[in-house]
Amino acid sequence: MHWRVLVLPGDGIGPEVTREAVRVLEHVAAKWGHSIELREGLLGGAAIRATGNPFPAETRKLALESDATLLGAVGLPEFDDLPPSERPEKGLLGLRKALDVYANLRPVYCYESLIESSPLKNDIVRGTDILIVRELTGGLYFGQPRGVEGAAGAETALNSMVYSRGEIERVCRMAFELARNRRGKLTSVDKANVLENSQLWRRVVTQLAAEYPDIELEHMLVDNCAMQLLLRPTAFDVVVTENLFGDILSDEGSVLAGSIGMLPSASIGSQLPNGAWRGLYEPVHGSAPDIAGQGKANPLAAIGSAAAMLEYSFGLTEEAAAINDAVSAVLDSGGVTADLKPAGPPASTEEVGRAVCAAIN
Ligand code: NAD
Repeated sequence: MHWRVLVLPGDGIGPEVTREAVRVLEHVAAKWGHSIELREGLLGGAAIRATGNPFPAETRKLALESDATLLGAVGLPEFDDLPPSERPEKGLLGLRKALDVYANLRPVYCYESLIESSPLKNDIVRGTDILIVRELTGGLYFGQPRGVEGAAGAETALNSMVYSRGEIERVCRMAFELARNRRGKLTSVDKANVLENSQLWRRVVTQLAAEYPDIELEHMLVDNCAMQLLLRPTAFDVVVTENLFGDILSDEGSVLAGSIGMLPSASIGSQLPNGAWRGLYEPVHGSAPDIAGQGKANPLAAIGSAAAMLEYSFGLTEEAAAINDAVSAVLDSGGVTADLKPAGPPASTEEVGRAVCAAIN
């Protein structure tokens, strides 16, 4: 199989963790006899420095020409004072919109060897295996009208949570399908007791459920869900929700997994003519400026994102499983980065990447 992959290292620890993910991808390609065409582009702060634009036209073109995009992270404190429309994060939102990747899949999995890294009690997190499906291209982050109006000292700020029936239907349909390949339970999260937007969301999900009689559907209010994720995480299988709620809940989920450096994500949209699903793969974490350039970053979320790329964009489940098994083996070996609190001296970012490749052999 021939993979056309765009790599966008981005800012902070982005280049360090994507380097290891690419190492693993190249290793897998060689072992299984696939050819991989890697191209590199600019996004976020790195793109602002080079071109003045967080999402240059060249990056858009490269992304649309590729089957899949692997992203590190964007954002740095030096850009914090820019208006939202010029910040590095705007580049990421633009990329997601351009690729029309409307479903963000965030697995939250508690590895037995990391159970002590979670601040929750072992008997609460043991066995946690959740897939959070977050709507990614609608809702408050994109809704119009938006902006700040009024004279200084008396401003009013406005953002709009906008969803059409079609936008809700396509992401929830994907969630039902994913639940079918897992344990058959779907939790739809909303704020239907207050928001009209959520009332439409709940109505659409309930109607869709008639097509999926084999799936157990429950509705949960977002505030209750935030609590239940910490009280009984093993009760969840697939969770589907809108953009803002999903952003917050999936970061909360990172606590269950032990470290934010462990969480991969996959954003999926339309199917391409060659059968691949156009996808954007990125760790959930940010650019971690506090540890950037020191070889301390955990690359396992980026490596897990590369595995998700093979699974969702290219349908290579055997290769993806080989990477995930190798990650498990590296965790069991104890040779992990400082965020996972190893018993001995922590491994470097590169040592972890090389260890994953060695474990695949
Ligand atoms: P962050 O995820 O970058 O860091 C939070 C904490 O987790 C830090 O202490 C950091 O050292 C640690 N951490 C993160 N990833 C790690 C890894 N792989 N290994 C070890 N430790 C890790 O979040 P933040 O500090 O709130 O944001 C920093 C910058 O990143 C901001 O500019 C923010 O806008 C941006 N950001 C980008 C994305 C993205 O690109 N998808 C996501 C979140 C934040």
